[in-house]
Amino acid sequence: MNRIAVGVVLLALFAWSTRSFADVDKPGNYKTWPKPGARLSVRYTVEKSLTADPGLIAALRRAINEWTTLLGFVDFVDVTGQKPLPKDYISFEPGADCKATRGFLGGAHVIYLRGCNREWAAMAHEIGHTLGLPHEHQRPSRDGFVTINRLALNDLGKTQVLELIELSSLRKKRHDLLSVMHYALEQRGLTKNGEVVMFLDDEGKRFLKARKKSEDDIRTAINEPTACDVVALKHLYGMPTQDGECFQP
Ligand SMILES: [Zn+2]
Repeated sequence: MNRIAVGVVLLALFAWSTRSFADVDKPGNYKTWPKPGARLSVRYTVEKSLTADPGLIAALRRAINEWTTLLGFVDFVDVTGQKPLPKDYISFEPGADCKATRGFLGGAHVIYLRGCNREWAAMAHEIGHTLGLPHEHQRPSRDGFVTINRLALNDLGKTQVLELIELSSLRKKRHDLLSVMHYALEQRGLTKNGEVVMFLDDEGKRFLKARKKSEDDIRTAINEPTACDVVALKHLYGMPTQDGECFQP
């Protein structure tokens, strides 16, 4: 019995001290899109059935335009209907979700849009994933800013919220509660009984107050891309940046 008790304690210490997280920067595990020159060209197609929803298309155009303007080094090129299609591209499709894979995989990178509820920021979030950004609330930097309501999470919530993910190129990035890659505090479908996904902590409150924002601004909706989201993507793609407050010295 003693031995069992010691084993449990050791396991608990191990879990507490390792704080390991997936580093998707590892070659073969995760890639950014190939950028042979100074600019990154990302081709995309839009499935025809989506064009019957003008609100959705308008939101998608805005998401693409906003990233284009903010980043300054990425060209999104519409190749819908082109034959043959380029080797690598984003395929915007209806699906039931608002979902993308993370990073460059080669071939067609499907982004499902129907579940984005015609919100351009949600679409910008998915494009952010495809370009390589992880969830901001899954970075270890979340400590002190939010506490995850871990016991309430369902299986999807565990992989999309609880699991820690960090990229070596973002390791020094300060936490950004207003990032387009940060989930809202309340998000249906991630908890078992509709509980909140995470609670705002003191540092998070100070962060919002300093930016004249309140808890309500992160309660239910994903925010627009921030200046620090742009800096993060520039780091991923080796572009020169003015880090400002986005990265710790
Ligand atoms: Zn996401």
